[in-house]
Amino acid sequence: MDFSKLRSNMVEHQIAARGVRSEAVLNAMRKVPRERFLSGRLREFAYDDAPLPIEAQQTISQPYIVALMTEALALEGGETVLEIGTGSGYAAAVLAEIAGEVYTVERVELLVEQARSRLAALGYKNIHVRHADGTLGWTEHAPYDAIIVAAGGPEVPDTLKKQLKVGGRLVIPIGADPRVQELVRVTRTLDDTFTTEDIADVRFVPLVGKEGWSPEEIPQPVRSGQEGARLADGGLAGAIAESCEPFDSIETADFDALLDRIGDAKVVLLGEATHGTSEFYRMRQRISQELIARKGFRFVAIEGDWPDVARLDHYVRHFEFPPSEWTAFARFPTWMWRNNEVRGFIDWLRDHNADRRPRQRTAIYGLDLYSLYTSISSVLRYLDDVDPDSARVARQRYACLTPWQSDPAAYGHAALTGGFRTCEGEVVRMLADILRKQSDYAAHDGERFLDATQNARLVTDAERYYRIMYYGSRASWNLRDTHMFDTLKSLLAFHGAEAKAIVWAHNSHVGDAAATEMAARGEHNIGRLCREEFGLNVYSIGFGTDSGTVAAASDWDGPMEVKTVRPALHRSYESLCHETGLPRFMLPLRLPASSAIRTGLETPRLERAIGVIYRPETELASHYFEAVLPRQFDEYIWFDKTSAVTPLVTKALKGLPDTYPFGV
Ligand code: SAH
Repeated sequence: MDFSKLRSNMVEHQIAARGVRSEAVLNAMRKVPRERFLSGRLREFAYDDAPLPIEAQQTISQPYIVALMTEALALEGGETVLEIGTGSGYAAAVLAEIAGEVYTVERVELLVEQARSRLAALGYKNIHVRHADGTLGWTEHAPYDAIIVAAGGPEVPDTLKKQLKVGGRLVIPIGADPRVQELVRVTRTLDDTFTTEDIADVRFVPLVGKEGWSPEEIPQPVRSGQEGARLADGGLAGAIAESCEPFDSIETADFDALLDRIGDAKVVLLGEATHGTSEFYRMRQRISQELIARKGFRFVAIEGDWPDVARLDHYVRHFEFPPSEWTAFARFPTWMWRNNEVRGFIDWLRDHNADRRPRQRTAIYGLDLYSLYTSISSVLRYLDDVDPDSARVARQRYACLTPWQSDPAAYGHAALTGGFRTCEGEVVRMLADILRKQSDYAAHDGERFLDATQNARLVTDAERYYRIMYYGSRASWNLRDTHMFDTLKSLLAFHGAEAKAIVWAHNSHVGDAAATEMAARGEHNIGRLCREEFGLNVYSIGFGTDSGTVAAASDWDGPMEVKTVRPALHRSYESLCHETGLPRFMLPLRLPASSAIRTGLETPRLERAIGVIYRPETELASHYFEAVLPRQFDEYIWFDKTSAVTPLVTKALKGLPDTYPFGV
């Protein structure tokens, strides 16, 4: 295995590409051989940019996080640095490539021994490892130019602050819950004055010590398989088997009982546990067909970008105004919507709408906000048509964002570091102008006006999204889900008081965030916002699977692969469903339907989430989170074995009408 090539790839694609700009840090990351800090069996994953297990139930940090933290220390070379949490010794080596002397403290003796011998073998002479409680620092060598803490504590230890030089920086993960933290940077600006900035949302192992957590406060990992729990699981799996509704196939399933449970709900949320499983798409589509045909649902809103889905909408509703010229869903991850399964639904919807009057046709919309530039061109095209003077103004304003067309994330970085002014004022004024002219414009065509305002709204939210991405995932996650929820609400308003909506998005968006560890990070989602707005008038359905195949990439922007989904981990909801021995079922979770299983299911468990990336080799860290299923969803649909979606290949599209939304 060519580790140095893997290493330089990782630095380019995972670290530099995600916004770490410091050449000193990137060079250090290019030099340190991470594989030498891992046990033999894990070496091949050394450059996956993921945290990995080391001895004593600890972890070696994710390279991107090491780089981000080191960059935040703002080292220029030659400094005296203190590290708390030596672990494998990897981060200490990265620091030693830049700093003068690195003092590092570790509480687990075995790790101290191993790190010492690894670092000596690699020839590092400027790293000093000590076995002690690091929350008390290392007094003899204080004060330090910089301190880095690789474990999460409840608050910033006072002793460490006191060991900083004036002007010195301390980077540490802090959180009231030992499992999730916010990475913060504390700067000692004056002898007794400190400033604190948030950097990112992170997950570290706990900082255990006098000024950290006490050992009793640390929650035991959920998957430690105690025998008692195992027996209880067996009983619970039996109870689930009793209480669920098994079905033979997606095509022949009977939906009467499900439709009764959904009742008069105004919004039905349909999830998925991956972005690439055929069964999830097909089942969502069957349920949607029933809801449209039997309960008059007005539209389906999906986790896709507004202008791309507008092309589908144009096709399914037989619209006359010319569709946009680009190919829908041409960007990564193309398979998420450009697949055979979705195509089947789109064709069904077009047929279904064919003999209906325009106002009675079922629409499809996109809730997501990644289409900054296609949305800009949609707004411009619209204004060119209805108001050429405003189009000129709009071109000038949106020009502010043009330099970043190929890499909107770079705009966020530039705006944040002060190297470039923000375009916020321009995009907000543009949206306000369009909204002000509502009565003039809407007279032309209400649907087109809706399309233009949604695009203008998307531009303002996406501009902010790319800017705040650098403040951590929580803020940008919340902004994105708020945007999706606001879009849903304006669509409901557009279609009138009686309108009912179906939403297709990942479980992590549609399940109630308050019932998962997202809540501890301060994150909300569409499911939570809908619950607050519509109460019991929203019915949310989650999906799950044990094993099979899935379409996913290994890295962001990487090619689609058909990957094998590993059997679910013990102590997860998935392993519980698997234990029922049933191949597929619907499981009502609302009371009273779920009274026999409710208590058993309310003990928090792991749940798996696969997005557009799947990394089976680091499954626990990358894909599992903790949740309480019966509070997260009103219903859970299970497919024990599943298979990957079939992506559309261009050839298969030949011969379709010109207006076909997936392009040719
Ligand atoms: N920088 C390390 C990451 C190690 S994980 C690397 O690159 O591999 C965090 C480490 O902090 C664990 O090894 C854990 O044992 C250690 N730790 C936790 N509390 C500590 C404390 N109070 N003092 C010193 N080390 C501590």
